[in-house]
Amino acid sequence: MARLSNSENVAKIQANASAESLRTSIISEIHKAQDHITNLIQSEPSKATYAQAVKNNVRGHITTCPDPDAARRLQITVKSSNIPSDRPLHIADPFGIALAFNKAIAETVEAKDSNIISPITARSARRLKSGDFTIVLHSQNDVDTIRNNSKEWLPRLAPGAWTSIPKFDVVINGVPTSFDPSSETDVRKIEENNTEIILPYSISRARWMRHPKANFGSIIAEFRDSQSANQAIDNGLSLDHSLLSAHKLTENLTQCYKCQQYGHIAKYCKNSECCALCAGNHATKSCPSTDYHSQFCCTNCSGNHSSFDRSGPARSAEREKIDSRPANSDPHFSPYLGSTTWSEGRCD
Ligand SMILES: [Zn+2]
Ligand SMILES: [Zn+2]
Ligand SMILES: [Zn+2]
Repeated sequence: MARLSNSENVAKIQANASAESLRTSIISEIHKAQDHITNLIQSEPSKATYAQAVKNNVRGHITTCPDPDAARRLQITVKSSNIPSDRPLHIADPFGIALAFNKAIAETVEAKDSNIISPITARSARRLKSGDFTIVLHSQNDVDTIRNNSKEWLPRLAPGAWTSIPKFDVVINGVPTSFDPSSETDVRKIEENNTEIILPYSISRARWMRHPKANFGSIIAEFRDSQSANQAIDNGLSLDHSLLSAHKLTENLTQCYKCQQYGHIAKYCKNSECCALCAGNHATKSCPSTDYHSQFCCTNCSGNHSSFDRSGPARSAEREKIDSRPANSDPHFSPYLGSTTWSEGRCD
């Protein structure tokens, strides 16, 4: 080890001492907050249902996280671009961010009718180059509680803060119509029937892809982790002794019904109206054409078919373009890039 000069030694000791005293004061602050919250919870009968109570209390005391993948699964990202620039969060170091998060959660727990009933603390925090930051929590249950109740704590953290929720959408085919995707019991049954390949609570929710007309249909299951989703895709899933096939939900082709072009929907369309039948500049429903078939003109390829026609070359090219995107061409999910949705923290 390199020898340090006396003055360097002194400076180092002083720096260590001040870092240590800062650390001690932060830890004592966290402990105080935790004690306060614990007292608060004990003094009040639990608002939780039995299932919630089990979910919230069976939380392991993980203090180290040697598996970086696990750390990323337990991570939430807070988007800061809409946070007013005079907020201290913009200059806070990781400690400050973790403290602000713990404080926001503590306030949420104290609030009346909160769904967050026990204190959740940050294991670590990190600021990203973008100015956004990530917070790593202690368990999957914590992550779920934090994600599902973001509208409660985000405004307390900072007005304008957003959080990202990665999910991994898997289509499961051949599901009998007796299955109810909105039922927690039915969704848990998928996990119970497939314990060897997917984690408990790996599916956050499910829905019919389109309402089934026959005895069987396809459901979209939102997985919380990419590993379980990929296992389901590779092995299929058992349900009541039937093996169901599963695949990644890929991006749909979107076509605007106002201008007929691809890649956006009418709600966000800035183009002028274009008829899907004759390509004239009027709404499709007010097309004056009397002989559609001879006057068909596709907006996208000028062929003699309507703009909705699935066989047109422009549509096939668009389909190929979408399918060749890495996110769609790979049958598996890459670990942390699911179909991300953003949930907004309201400031009211
Ligand atoms: Zn459009
Ligand atoms: Zn027309
Ligand atoms: Zn066409």
